[in-house]
Amino acid sequence: MPMGFLLKIIVFGVAIYAAWRTVMHWKGVFDRVTGKPQPRVRPTSAPPEPPAAPRQATVIDASGTCRICGAYLSSAATRCGRSDCPLP
Ligand SMILES: [Zn+2]
Repeated sequence: MPMGFLLKIIVFGVAIYAAWRTVMHWKGVFDRVTGKPQPRVRPTSAPPEPPAAPRQATVIDASGTCRICGAYLSSAATRCGRSDCPLP
């Protein structure tokens, strides 16, 4: 009966796979509870710096526009620097 033998192999493989998945799941839960570092965590893949957005917003708040031509100015600039601007 070759079909029954094949079926047994398939069922055995599925059972091994399910047991492996269960062991890995509970191993991850155990590591999380005990505070151990996760092996998949890579320190080099950290998310970008969160203060980047507020710093950019501060720069935007500190900047202004040229009162003559309306070009955007940084907080340190005294004039916009455009060649067609009438402001000296
Ligand atoms: Zn200007």
